[in-house]
Amino acid sequence: MFGLYIYIFSLQIRHKQLALPFTELIGARGLEPPTSASRTLRATNCATPRLPMLLYDALTIEARVKYCVLIIDGASGWPLAAHGGRTCLELAHTPNMDAMAKAGAVGLLRTVPPGMEPSSACACMSVLGYDPQVYYQGRSAIEARGMGVPINKGEIVFRCNLVAVRNGRMWSYSCGHISTGEGRALIASLNEKLGSDKVHFYPGVSYRHICKIKGKEDALLASCTPPHDIPDKAIDEFLPKGPGSDLLRELMARSELVLRDHPVNMERGARGDIPATMVWLFWSSGKIPDMPAFKEVYGLDAAITSGVDIMRGLARMTGMRVMDISGVTGGLDNDYVAQTIGALEALGEYDMVVIHVEATDESAHAGLVKDKIEAIQSVDKEVVSRLRSWNRDALRVLILPDHSTPIKIQTHVADPVPFILWGPGFTASGAKRFTEAEAKGTGFFVEEGYSIMGRLIE
Ligand SMILES: [Zn+2]
Repeated sequence: MFGLYIYIFSLQIRHKQLALPFTELIGARGLEPPTSASRTLRATNCATPRLPMLLYDALTIEARVKYCVLIIDGASGWPLAAHGGRTCLELAHTPNMDAMAKAGAVGLLRTVPPGMEPSSACACMSVLGYDPQVYYQGRSAIEARGMGVPINKGEIVFRCNLVAVRNGRMWSYSCGHISTGEGRALIASLNEKLGSDKVHFYPGVSYRHICKIKGKEDALLASCTPPHDIPDKAIDEFLPKGPGSDLLRELMARSELVLRDHPVNMERGARGDIPATMVWLFWSSGKIPDMPAFKEVYGLDAAITSGVDIMRGLARMTGMRVMDISGVTGGLDNDYVAQTIGALEALGEYDMVVIHVEATDESAHAGLVKDKIEAIQSVDKEVVSRLRSWNRDALRVLILPDHSTPIKIQTHVADPVPFILWGPGFTASGAKRFTEAEAKGTGFFVEEGYSIMGRLIE
């Protein structure tokens, strides 16, 4: 009997000692609710005092598993006739992604439900584990949320690009990726000249801004075309049409007069940069859809790094922390090293990090094969290599584009995208590289895009 007391006493001591590393494990989150893994662990410790020593080790390892989702925006595409019928993913040298593809589960995922628009917002909603058929109501509301712009009753928002039109044709949907500082100065002038209690322009990043309109909800019905869908085309036939389009056309026309002799444009012209000749309104949205918090749905604390407002908006709508890492941009100048190191450091505090890279999509929109390949290679060399070596036994990784952006058409398509699930618990599915064809070849097809999150963390 005495022996039993000693045994129970020693068990308690050991539990107390073991409680420390476990606390450290969930540490920085302090008193916040435990994750699903730690819930299991606590329940086991309480209910069966003799078993936990063995189970504890196993569960501690399980509890230490962290997750990373790497979204390489628009990285997939179609075979390029001028490049031997190969896609950019096939043309790129990607030893790290290929090694992960060989070891992990590779397949195709439908991120854009049939009939829905293949926007990053819609596709990324799937990737983050939310069904766009339930939660997606247009992308500009999500961007607005990312920029901290409130949308109240009777208000609607539009994406407002600063574009360049030359000889009546769409010269640049981004006016040559104007800098954020210059973009803000132009938007401030537009607000001063065209703003009112009904119309307000909000500055975003580079050429991407938001226009909010009050008391004209019929403009939601106007038919608008994204400027990146009409490179070099005559703009007349693509101006907003139908109900409520009159105000949109008027604002776009009046913006030309405000921007024409603007000092920012004069300086850009003098440097040989593309000027911003007008604003282009599209992607209308009404009120922001309510989404349950990621923690509530998946039991994990997540953080995200991205250079674009749309991802920051999605993060805010799902309660993910938005990391502010210096050097992270939406272009080819993105600091991949800083982005990855920042994300991996955040894994000390969070269960999951989402790394979103935009440069691949931007190059595809611009029709630049070389740039797209270079961006894919940078992701492989600077991001994926670090994920591979971070901690082999403790990191589960999902790598995928949100949607495909074929160079040939320079815009998004709803094709299913290739993905890799890599890390403890995932076994090889026969792929040799991370490409569209290899992913198709495994026969592993996931129809419900949003279910991929469950597969990553199950
Ligand atoms: Zn895009």
